Amino acid sequence: MNETAQKSETSDVIDPAAYASATAAIRAEAKRLLAEGLVTAVIGYKAGRRSGTALPTIVTDPARAEDLIFTPACVNNLALYLTKAKKDVAKKGKVAIVAKGCDMRALAGLMGESQLKREDLFIIGVACAGVHAGNGERSVARKCRECAVHTPAGADLVAGTVPVMPELTPVEGQELARLEAMTAGERWAFWKEQFSRCVKCYACRSICPFCYCEQCLCDRNRPQAVESAPRPAGNMAWHIVRAMHLAGRCAGCAECERACPMDIPLNLLNRKMANELKELYGHEAGLEAKEKGPLAEYREDDDQSFIK
Ligand code: SF4
Ligand code: SF4
Ligand code: SF4
Repeated sequence: MNETAQKSETSDVIDPAAYASATAAIRAEAKRLLAEGLVTAVIGYKAGRRSGTALPTIVTDPARAEDLIFTPACVNNLALYLTKAKKDVAKKGKVAIVAKGCDMRALAGLMGESQLKREDLFIIGVACAGVHAGNGERSVARKCRECAVHTPAGADLVAGTVPVMPELTPVEGQELARLEAMTAGERWAFWKEQFSRCVKCYACRSICPFCYCEQCLCDRNRPQAVESAPRPAGNMAWHIVRAMHLAGRCAGCAECERACPMDIPLNLLNRKMANELKELYGHEAGLEAKEKGPLAEYREDDDQSFIK
């Protein structure tokens, strides 16, 4: 598809009017939960300072439930706020969180890893037609073009309904097919070129709900496991460590790719790893709260075919 055709397909495909009913339902539920003392806080989205943008917010006063919104600018995966503050969640009592379908997969994964308890959460699922590629950027996010979770499963309620969806070109799926058709050498060259742009800002790590280690292996310097300067060998090592640590856990929210200032197609790598895990172990992350992913489990009857 040429650039002009893609632009016209994506420019205004998400109708903001479709989000109004979800916003109304989120506000009503948040107000009720807070007023009845059923939760101590609601983690959701509010309008940003610039027109058409949105920000994560935490509402504790029922009168402020009216601040909550759901629009195509609600890009953030709010599950992040539960993991970074995980030690405080139980102390604060039950917390409500607004979750799109892709965010639900992160919540399920975090429950499976014992980072969250279902009983500590009230999940306001939101029927989601899609979000923009970035705050202020109006094209449809690549992940939304192939979304299979427009209506979240396992929430306490689902706010709004999904409108009739247009056919969207699966840009990322097409890229993945091209990547899989490459030889191992071509793939190595492809990623080497992509990772050469990495500036080691670690925005991808900061935004990821699954990067919750108190000290990342890549920050250690006694001994140093991964070079911290943004140079080719260290960049490759950082991305391999991250890809392996996320394999079988990544929820596919694509937040790492959205946060990356260097336009590195991180979700393409996530999807490639997810395909490998599915092929090798029949495992798909985030569909249910499973105790362990395949790379965190040892079985005596493993055929060990991965040892070459
Ligand atoms: S991937 Fe699906 S659930 Fe997630 S933002 Fe896009 S359309 Fe919504
Ligand atoms: S690796 Fe990226 S896509 Fe996967 S859960 Fe983390 S932020 Fe989301
Ligand atoms: S966000 Fe992008 S540039 Fe920053 S560390 Fe991650 S991959 Fe590198």
